Amino acid sequence: MTTLNWPQLKISSDLITFDGIKNLLFKSNNKTINKKPIGQVYLIGAGPGDPELLTLKAYRLLQEADIIFYDSLITDEMLQLIPNKTEKIFVGKRCGKHSMKQQNICDLLVNAGLSGKNIVRLKGGDPSIFGRLAEEADALKTHNIKFAVVPGVTAASGCAAYSGIPLTHREYSQSVRFVTAHLKQDELQADWSNLASSKDTLVFYMGLNRINQISEGLIKFGMQNDMPIAIIDKGATNQQQVIISTLKDITHTMKGLKLLGPALIVVGKVINARQIVDLEMLKMSEVENESS
Ligand code: SAH
Repeated sequence: MTTLNWPQLKISSDLITFDGIKNLLFKSNNKTINKKPIGQVYLIGAGPGDPELLTLKAYRLLQEADIIFYDSLITDEMLQLIPNKTEKIFVGKRCGKHSMKQQNICDLLVNAGLSGKNIVRLKGGDPSIFGRLAEEADALKTHNIKFAVVPGVTAASGCAAYSGIPLTHREYSQSVRFVTAHLKQDELQADWSNLASSKDTLVFYMGLNRINQISEGLIKFGMQNDMPIAIIDKGATNQQQVIISTLKDITHTMKGLKLLGPALIVVGKVINARQIVDLEMLKMSEVENESS
């Protein structure tokens, strides 16, 4: 019987290429890997930023994993919750560089799954919301690898809670719509007339670089130009910023502001119902930490 040696990977941003990771992990014997017992892959949502928003199930599975593939929405604080012995492999996009192709990520998951190890794919927010869940699950299913999905707090819920903006409100909005501002062809081809006439609260994911297109598109197709819009930057983290404006003024309001991303854009009258929440109450008590 041949055993696989899992090298201690030092992940530096220069090393992040699909071939680099694949060679290091699986170089010796693809044929041997195929004979090993089939492993299992957990596709886990980590929530939007605050590590305490991880579910108990996610936390337990992170402790039990052999290898964790994570993306750029996973914060350093979350990574610190993973035991040192666990292989942590970055498969995301950092500063616009080293964007690993989805097909390559699927291949890595399949190879790792076939090795018989206990694998976690850790994603920001909830895996089923703009998280390419279907593609990864499909690849695993094709190779008969067992998988399960663990939900996470999606950015909309996290940002709503930490910014005090409700997503629905009895007076203003009976429904909420999650919209991606990022499409395959790199163009926003939203159904503007449908979005602009909607009474839903609109939550745009991946929209920070398209804020002009979003505000102009909604106004052009009939949404009132003083409709409130909010940007929540790095929501549910210590660096959260909330910017509130109107569709017509948002571009001007944003001038000179330094937003880091990820950021969520909320459009709707619910923003008028914002309450200032006391974020200090959500912080971990340092005294408690020290004494435990
Ligand atoms: N699966 C994730 C979304 C992935 S798409 C989820 O359920 O949240 C990535 C987009 O999510 C970002 O461009 C941004 O719009 C949003 N996002 C993720 N984390 C965020 C955060 N902490 N604050 C604000 N927006 C966030």
